[in-house]
Amino acid sequence: MRGRRQLLTVVGIWGVVVLSGIAHAASDYPRVERIFHTSTADYARVVIALSRTTPHQLVAIPADPRQHRPARIVIDFSPARQGAQPPVARPVGNGLLTQIRVSQFSPTTVRVALDIERLDDYHTFSLSSPPRLILDVRGQERREGPQPSLSAPAQRYRIMLDPGHGGHDPGARGPNGTYEKDIVLALSRRLGRKLASRLPVEVLFTRTADVFVPLEERTARANAAKADLFLSIHANASPNPAMQGIETYYLNNTNDRATIRLAAMENGLLQRPDRREPGLSYILSDLIQKGKEEESIALAHHLQEAMVLRAKGHYPAVRNLGVKKGPFYVLVGAHMPCVLVEVAFLSHRVEGQHLLSPEYQEALAEGLFLGIARFLRTGPMAKSL
Ligand SMILES: [Zn+2]
Repeated sequence: MRGRRQLLTVVGIWGVVVLSGIAHAASDYPRVERIFHTSTADYARVVIALSRTTPHQLVAIPADPRQHRPARIVIDFSPARQGAQPPVARPVGNGLLTQIRVSQFSPTTVRVALDIERLDDYHTFSLSSPPRLILDVRGQERREGPQPSLSAPAQRYRIMLDPGHGGHDPGARGPNGTYEKDIVLALSRRLGRKLASRLPVEVLFTRTADVFVPLEERTARANAAKADLFLSIHANASPNPAMQGIETYYLNNTNDRATIRLAAMENGLLQRPDRREPGLSYILSDLIQKGKEEESIALAHHLQEAMVLRAKGHYPAVRNLGVKKGPFYVLVGAHMPCVLVEVAFLSHRVEGQHLLSPEYQEALAEGLFLGIARFLRTGPMAKSL
């Protein structure tokens, strides 16, 4: 634990569920349905998905080297029952996270206990539809012996490209029976080739095929890979067929209704029957994103400007809808500058057709490439380009 933080830290109650005091039948309890984890030597993310929101309490217990006991984080969900899926105990391997245990601790409480090799810092946030609690843990390896020399060659930038949607989530529908998921994958591949061949960067993808990847796993992959930049690529749709243009988003809450509708669509909230969502308000991962917001805004402006300029060469009527903020789940919990681009409206008769053409995709990919290149050269991240 950092400093002399108190031994037990209770992080709070999740959700706004008011317990009525009326006894629930056990079958009505919210269930702990699914646990996903990713773990590297110094970072781990654990996602606990529930059937419904329920309060939780979190306790962090530091390691006790004399007893050879690892640090432990214990999360109690109550009222809750274990779903069919979660295993009772799961050895995780030799990353930061060494074991996950799930138990029906009492008739009304499900306990998730995590063994953690080194615990420097942690934080939680929650997402809805399905309701899930996400825990990020960090712990630096303490190296003994000689430290790496300061004159070691500068590392390459690592860029995580995130083609939106995939698998059973097609995203917006385009002209001629096309889908957003396929168009943004093609665009991301095009951008990836440009980046890898023209900049000293390593390009990673959250998906390279037509598969479903949950939103919180996308940032988890970027965090685990220590990516320097995260770019989520989407195409827009509107019930208003006249809407067209390019817009770029960074993460923040907003009151703008069109943005909230768009974010609900991108967050997968419109495809589910559970309409009891308390809007799109959630706790931003303020512990981490605060330090990255300025860089994200700078990146957003570079991308937006370059995309519009390049697109205009092929489609002079293209509209610049600007840089905006919005509550996009896929950007929550990222440790690096991160933005989401909406490259065109598939629902617009002319713009939608343009987006299907290789020439327009090439123009947009070139715009995205130039935006990233300028950000890396001029931003606070400028290192060695
Ligand atoms: Zn999308």
